[in-house]
Amino acid sequence: MAYSWADDDDQTLQHDSKTLKYMPLYELNSNFNQQYRPNVSYHYNEQVSHFHYGVRHPMKPFRLMLTDHLVIGYKLHEHMDLYKPRRATRSELLEFHSEDYIDFLSSITPDQSALKSYADTLAKFNIGDDCPVFDGMYDYASIYAGASLDATRKLINGQSDIAINWSGGLHHAKKFEPSGFCYVNDIVLSILNLLRYYPRVLYIDIDLHHGDGVQEAFYTTDRVLTCSFHKYDGKFFPATGNLDETGIGKGKNFAINVPLRDGVDDESYIRLFKSIMEPLINQFNPSVIVQQCGADSLGCDRLGRFNLNIKAHGECVNFIKSFGIPMLVVGGGGYTPRNVSRLWCYETSLLTNVKLNSKLPENLAFRNWFKPDYSLHPNLKGDNLQNQNDRKFLENLKITVLEQLRFLNGAPSCSMNEIPPDLQGFTKDDEEAFYEKLKEQDFNDKFIDGEARDKKIMKDEARIGELME
Ligand SMILES: [Zn+2]
Repeated sequence: MAYSWADDDDQTLQHDSKTLKYMPLYELNSNFNQQYRPNVSYHYNEQVSHFHYGVRHPMKPFRLMLTDHLVIGYKLHEHMDLYKPRRATRSELLEFHSEDYIDFLSSITPDQSALKSYADTLAKFNIGDDCPVFDGMYDYASIYAGASLDATRKLINGQSDIAINWSGGLHHAKKFEPSGFCYVNDIVLSILNLLRYYPRVLYIDIDLHHGDGVQEAFYTTDRVLTCSFHKYDGKFFPATGNLDETGIGKGKNFAINVPLRDGVDDESYIRLFKSIMEPLINQFNPSVIVQQCGADSLGCDRLGRFNLNIKAHGECVNFIKSFGIPMLVVGGGGYTPRNVSRLWCYETSLLTNVKLNSKLPENLAFRNWFKPDYSLHPNLKGDNLQNQNDRKFLENLKITVLEQLRFLNGAPSCSMNEIPPDLQGFTKDDEEAFYEKLKEQDFNDKFIDGEARDKKIMKDEARIGELME
């Protein structure tokens, strides 16, 4: 029998450096041929990782750079189509956000005198500690939103069955204002685009925080069912997402909330997640799924309150994948960059059907960030966080949510007359011009291997001084 390296527990043997060098980074899953084998695409514009919210701010866009180095280091690009998406245009952002808010975002600069003269406007748009004004804020937002929209286009035209944008998932942003580190809501924009083609969209959110921005945007429609698992105690940000928020009007019962207490662990989370999602998917029968994979629900997260390990979080994503429904997968919160990147790399491997060596690749850029274990699966269960969700509490939650599902009355027969207006994306000529430009850059090959990759790693390494946790 072949030596198995996929679990830390199995790693009792020490390997010499030569063996290590020739050890595979991944193997195909054993039942690879029988499994659902989706076409997976990866949408990433590395510029998104170059922005800073501020030194002390917990949101670190460079976590996306770490994620990308892991994904490429494990050679997962061999199993996906890679795209470097364009930015979202102003008119694409206006499909959800108000004009004066987008005008404001695109004009404000962090320059002190400008900030002073804007004082009233800053208050009006809720700009402050959580959502500071930083250099290139509008560019940052249009890059991550552009990547999610690019992913939806690949789903709609059938090129992808699963499209991944780890830089997206900023679920708190509202129509008129930013919220909780989120400036524009790429998820709402993506769902609006998907609704042009798919009758019913299921939105699943496993971030630590309630997916309030997405819920609010689709609170009155039965074409989008939002389902969020999160910490809730009435005060914890954003202080919404209790069981009784279920939608209104036509959208009644099409918002589902699973409010949890501190310290939820692997076993209880997975059990609850599956026991709700299976009947929910069968009942609602979505034509496409958007899954937000916020990493702040992991144990040991800088802002965390839950106690999940990477495998448990991944198990939820894998479970949803097993339904074989087209899926947009986005990131979200996650404030301990070395764990965020491990999680999203692991989830990329689940989505592409490969099993990774849990020992991180030897020649990985930034390998030192993963000291001391250099493992894809560090133990993240913190001992100081008691699981306050006892069996009875979880059972009651489940019963209440399943009761709500009964009111869905099967999938709504959808008349497509509620289709939102066409996203005024690029004209065909514009698109072609973009493709030409991309071709010139010959992005794919050079970006992954060889000289250009080395240069990129060098450039990223030169930024190391800025990369503080
Ligand atoms: Zn969060």
